[in-house]
Amino acid sequence: MQQPTHDGLVARSLASVWHPCTQMKRHEAQPPVAIARAQGPWLYDTAGKRYLDAISSWWVNLFGHSHPHIQAALTDQLARLDHVMLAGFTHAPVVELSERLGALTGLGHAFYGSDGAAATEIALKMSAHYWRNTGRPAKSRFVGLAGGYHGETVGALAVTDIAIFREAYAPLVRLADTVPSPDARGAAPGETAEDVARHAAAALEAWLEEHHATTAALIVEPLVQCAAGMALHDPEYLRLARALCSRYDVHLVVDEIAVGFARTGTMFAHQRAGIQPDFICLSKGLTGGTLPLSAVLTTDAVYAAFYDDDVARGFLHSHSYTGNPLACRAALATLELFDQLDALNANTALAQRIDAACAPLSRHPRVRHARHLGMIWAWDVDTPFPDFSRRYHRHAMARGLVLRPIGNTLYAMPPYVLDEEAVQRLASGALDALNATLLEETS
Ligand SMILES: *Cc1c(COP(=O)(O)O)cnc(C)c1O
Repeated sequence: MQQPTHDGLVARSLASVWHPCTQMKRHEAQPPVAIARAQGPWLYDTAGKRYLDAISSWWVNLFGHSHPHIQAALTDQLARLDHVMLAGFTHAPVVELSERLGALTGLGHAFYGSDGAAATEIALKMSAHYWRNTGRPAKSRFVGLAGGYHGETVGALAVTDIAIFREAYAPLVRLADTVPSPDARGAAPGETAEDVARHAAAALEAWLEEHHATTAALIVEPLVQCAAGMALHDPEYLRLARALCSRYDVHLVVDEIAVGFARTGTMFAHQRAGIQPDFICLSKGLTGGTLPLSAVLTTDAVYAAFYDDDVARGFLHSHSYTGNPLACRAALATLELFDQLDALNANTALAQRIDAACAPLSRHPRVRHARHLGMIWAWDVDTPFPDFSRRYHRHAMARGLVLRPIGNTLYAMPPYVLDEEAVQRLASGALDALNATLLEETS
């Protein structure tokens, strides 16, 4: 913050930019950091200080920043075709990406938006419209999990059960119902995560028994409810939910926006349960963190219910940038990196090193429920500070480490490209920042 360029940018930002998920007045005490460039897992501010991006810039950046392979693909694409509307036109990047996503998931007919929240809304609209087209218009409600997060536009908020994001807008939202979360932390003594999953599935069954005739879809974040504070559940929940949705004629929408693309150890989280959903929502890591893009994939049966001579039976939803060629090309380059880098296997080895380095944090006397899945780590901190997250973030940043706890849950979701130095920065910085935050209790 000493450099004039940095100060200048920060002041101009505060005067002109409304920052997301931020009480702007807080920036009086802790101004935003002006970033000049990024390389691999590192961000560099305008004063030259570097920070390890241990949360992948809100979970989007899979292979580090400025990856040369993605950069080369984008440069090439920019010289060919920047954009063309996707109604009445098509192009190679959107076709190839749709084919690849279909091959990876077994679901096809890719429909594109630009953000995760748009993908949620597309899936919900398609589901309800499917039931309308098939003669069951009463099936128009949705059900989600307690603590679920599916985005913050007015439609997506209907299935986002996080009070701080929703309360002020409650009058605008047609709230969906929620059923209990299979969050493994809810296990009673002697119970396993699978037991918790079975109880939660029983509650879902009771709910569906009563409401299936008016319900279009169940939406879930498979394996990890990230925004709820990295709440993990047993894959058995997904198997049971899939069976119940089939039995009660309710669509299963899996929101893989945060957990897709190898984050949980399989290419897509629901694949660990061996299930096939009716809809998959993708975004965040889809372009490797370079450009906004989201996609909804669905079944042949859903697609067929819209295929008709009647225009109104079609899915008439659109966004101006639907299927943008640059974004699709970035996504293709990202998928190529999974093969080139053998990313799933490389992640297994990297995760072991990170896990070992973070062992002292996991054993810390003030940490509860230390947990790890794939390339996600989380630790619940026993702290009296209601503003633990803000305090911790400040100490982490001072140590050149980007970590932003959710409530009292400290978590890391790093890019898949940490070298030994970055692993050590993450592990020792996270522990030091925790001890520094706890020290504030006595001052
Ligand atoms: C981030 C997220 C969304 C919303 O995506 P945006 O691009 O921020 O609109 C939806 N669902 C899940 C699970 C997410 O993590």
